Amino acid sequence: MIIVMRDNASRSDIDKVAGLMASHNFKIHPVKGGHQTIFGVIGETRSLDTRDIELMEGVSEVIRVSEPYKLAGRAFHPEDTIIDIKGIRIGGDNVVVMAGPCSVENEDQIHIIAGLVSKAGAQVLRGGAFKPRTSPYSFQGLGEEGLKYLRDAAEACNMISVTEVMDTATVDLIAEYADILQIGARNMQNFALLKEAGRINKPIFLKRGLAGTIEELLMAAEYIMAHGNSQVILCERGIRTFETATRNTMDISAIPVINDKSHLPVFADPSHGTGMRDKVAPMARAAVAAGAHGLMIEVHHEPDKALSDGAQSLLPEQFTALMEELKVIAWTVGRNLGNGHDRIQNIV
Ligand code: PEP
Ligand code: MN
Repeated sequence: MIIVMRDNASRSDIDKVAGLMASHNFKIHPVKGGHQTIFGVIGETRSLDTRDIELMEGVSEVIRVSEPYKLAGRAFHPEDTIIDIKGIRIGGDNVVVMAGPCSVENEDQIHIIAGLVSKAGAQVLRGGAFKPRTSPYSFQGLGEEGLKYLRDAAEACNMISVTEVMDTATVDLIAEYADILQIGARNMQNFALLKEAGRINKPIFLKRGLAGTIEELLMAAEYIMAHGNSQVILCERGIRTFETATRNTMDISAIPVINDKSHLPVFADPSHGTGMRDKVAPMARAAVAAGAHGLMIEVHHEPDKALSDGAQSLLPEQFTALMEELKVIAWTVGRNLGNGHDRIQNIV
């Protein structure tokens, strides 16, 4: 941390700031340049509120030079994290696709969709059993019954599964059935849930909040990691802006920014990011080109009858065509769609 004193700071102002830093056992390196004093402060300064120092007499500016997320950040972990789930490797040079319906609606529906998306190359089956819905009158999910259907459909197709956990009370139940637990946008800063997610030994798929900054997303990941679970996958899923042409504004630039700041895998969800079926493929292609380690995409064989998010669900044939395009885009940016090099060799 750097503290810049004002030109006109008095000796006593400077001594007070130095004294405060010393009282925290921080090492201070004063640099005198012309009339101005600048302190370099070294130590565990994360617990300090920089505003408290900025308000001190004679202080001009306080600048943090290291990130507050030690575990999620790249500074102390330069190499990419790769999370291996039953042989499916997430992170590094792999591009892994999670696909399936918004909600698990019934046993047949999830089995049909699982068959279609796995044939197209998806490795992770998604489907909500506990649904966060804006209206209390909308379909809320099948609960534990949905978890069973999702697990069985994934197993039947040699896939792994991801599903959302909405509260601390259901973490253990969902962990019994699912391979990856999703914390949705609305819960990105549900700190009680993040702590519970830190306690389990299952990967967490953490979505960016509707109004969450990238730093807040990384701090949410830090919560899970600080509580013991280092298997975190981040997901950009669109944020709320003044733009109304799409459901959310898909922040593609978040992908290279996060890749720079964090070693954790970063995914993109263009389905919730755009909210419109015809906008999903362009944003999916853009996300892989921008360096996403994977995608989450909603697919439904009968979107007109879907109980949630039919309008943003791809038809199976659209998903299959997209997967073919994504193989080429992944290869172009030095990545492999799927779990090995064999698919890529088929292209070149
Ligand atoms: C979902 O993936 O089903 C979902 C509700 O996503 P989000 O939390 O991004 O809205
Ligand atoms: Mn959805």
